[in-house]
Amino acid sequence: MSTGFQGKFHRQNMLSRLAKDLVRRSRSKCELCEKSGVKLEALELLPLEEEPCVDGSIFICDECHKQIITPKKMIPAHWRCLNNALWSEVPAVQVMSVRILRRLEKSGHHWAEELLENAYLEPELEEWSLQAD
Ligand SMILES: [Zn+2]
Repeated sequence: MSTGFQGKFHRQNMLSRLAKDLVRRSRSKCELCEKSGVKLEALELLPLEEEPCVDGSIFICDECHKQIITPKKMIPAHWRCLNNALWSEVPAVQVMSVRILRRLEKSGHHWAEELLENAYLEPELEEWSLQAD
């Protein structure tokens, strides 16, 4: 089994092969903030599947990506977009939206708490959402 840099490279490579499906699914708009005309990239949700797959990934812009992987850089106002993303028909987008809102809720953002109260996740998605933050 490959590990370290090679393993990571290999995974990135497999992930990039999903791009065509992700472009179609997202209609070339960031699946979280709906920005279009920008470069989008796939982000896999944790916990990782054995192999990258479309259903386990979201297709998002640099700004969303940066704020997700570096929580210290989170700009709460940016995430008002989750008001829509929460109701996405893509399960991975719903799960990521809930995870981000939970982070915001923890740091005291009341509006995030309100959105979460009104959100609905199917039980298996709820479980998925709790497997990482
Ligand atoms: Zn975005």
